[in-house]
Amino acid sequence: MSQHPARTPPERPELLLMLGSGLAVALIVIMVSALLIREHTSALQAAKRSTTNIAQLINADVLRNVELYDLALQGLIAATQRTDLSKVSADIRHLVQFERSAAAPFKGEVLLLDANGSVVADSSTLKPTPRSFADRDFFLAHKNATQAGLFISRPFKIQCNCEQVWRIAFSRRVIGADGEFAGVAVATMRLAYFDQLFNSLTIGNSSSVNLLNDHGILLAQQPLLERDMINKDLSDFPNFKRIVRDGSGSFRAVSGITGKERLYTFSNVGELPLIVVVVLSSEDVFAPWNRAAMLTGGATGILCIGLLWLTWMLRRELRRRYRAEKVLSELAATDALTGLANRRMLDQRLRLEWDRAQRSAEPLTLLMIDVDHFKAFNDRHGHHGGDEALRNVAQVIGNNIRRPADLAARYGGEEFAVVLPATDSRGAWLIAEHIRNGVEHLPQVAGAERPITVSIGMCTWDKRSRLSLETLLLSADQALYEAKHSGRNRIVEAENPA
Ligand code: GH3
Ligand code: MG
Ligand code: MG
Repeated sequence: MSQHPARTPPERPELLLMLGSGLAVALIVIMVSALLIREHTSALQAAKRSTTNIAQLINADVLRNVELYDLALQGLIAATQRTDLSKVSADIRHLVQFERSAAAPFKGEVLLLDANGSVVADSSTLKPTPRSFADRDFFLAHKNATQAGLFISRPFKIQCNCEQVWRIAFSRRVIGADGEFAGVAVATMRLAYFDQLFNSLTIGNSSSVNLLNDHGILLAQQPLLERDMINKDLSDFPNFKRIVRDGSGSFRAVSGITGKERLYTFSNVGELPLIVVVVLSSEDVFAPWNRAAMLTGGATGILCIGLLWLTWMLRRELRRRYRAEKVLSELAATDALTGLANRRMLDQRLRLEWDRAQRSAEPLTLLMIDVDHFKAFNDRHGHHGGDEALRNVAQVIGNNIRRPADLAARYGGEEFAVVLPATDSRGAWLIAEHIRNGVEHLPQVAGAERPITVSIGMCTWDKRSRLSLETLLLSADQALYEAKHSGRNRIVEAENPA
């Protein structure tokens, strides 16, 4: 049995390799993820910025136009409250009452209602058709509340000879001389104004611009999500509840109407009871990010898989090389005929164990073993038979050494050496005797004159002896010589010069 010094196993470099590449992959994944998260956040912020800009643009336009309507109403009320106006002719009175009405765009009718809701003045004619608006929300609002201010009605359609179009009404209370409710000044506006305003803004395909009043009634929407959206009460949808409650801001939520995720950006129109809501679809917001994420994620995935694959291949190569090196070094240290360690290995290990023994002061024994009358055996049984016998002897020697540090080697020809570290002469003698006895009792080769036997020379170094490594070798050799001369098939221990 041959013994070799322990080689560095591949586990450590392998572990380092796996750890290194695992760390590299983790770092790449963390970096790419951080980058993508940052990009995602900035895509959302950019969308919020642009929708806020859109909302502000709409706000400014709506505010300016509502102001024009309010001016028309205030002009009408101021004219109505002038006492001198009853003295002038009807057409002059009409002119004064409605002089400020001309500027308002998408204007419908401007009317003056009395305290009963009946039309008393109409911007379109000197002789208004008798009509009553007593049941309308704007009339009731002013009749019942003194502080209604500028009231914006729900959308409605007016029955007239022209086509029916959606309108809303702006109205203000008319106060009599004693502060009593004297009627309502009302101006209607076609909702087409909002459509035109919203159409002028470009937003994504599945996105929309909306105008709501503060009760959650939809006044305008571009593009329309469904056919009957105008005048729809959205106050029950959680998202619109939040919008009406917050007044202005931005959030992401699933739409109660489309069931898809949307980005809602909304703001109040000045002090008016109106809210502009710009709704962007998350698909539109994140489409470029999604593409970038797919590309980056894919490339990163391939890179990481490639890296891990390369590491795996490298690990395999490392193992293969380690095994090959192990086999080579074993071959380089092994005697081809007997399978024991060779002379080179013996020299190395003897030097190693010698140094170790010097440090630890533990005994070290060397056995020199020589097959007796082997020339004669060889001559009788041929070279092949001789080789076979050498293998058998080597096997007996190998079988009798047990400790990992023990080493049996072929010294040369039919000579063997056994290094026994941390073994005193008594213990070594026992081993030597086992070997001698074992060889003697090997099955006898057919036609052999005598059994194969060995002579063993033995020398032990201990801390009391004054041997050098060379004298240890020489002493063991001399003991072997003595064993030969005193009759062979025996063990002789060298005198240990203390
Ligand atoms: P002694 O008892 O004194 O040791 O006698 P011996 O014949 O064994 O001594 P000697 O050293 O003169 O002979 C050694 C012989 O061992 C010489 C050679 O024929 C044989 N021998 C050495 N190496 C090998 C080997 O590798 N194979 C074989 N078959 N024979 C070998
Ligand atoms: Mg010999
Ligand atoms: Mg011999």
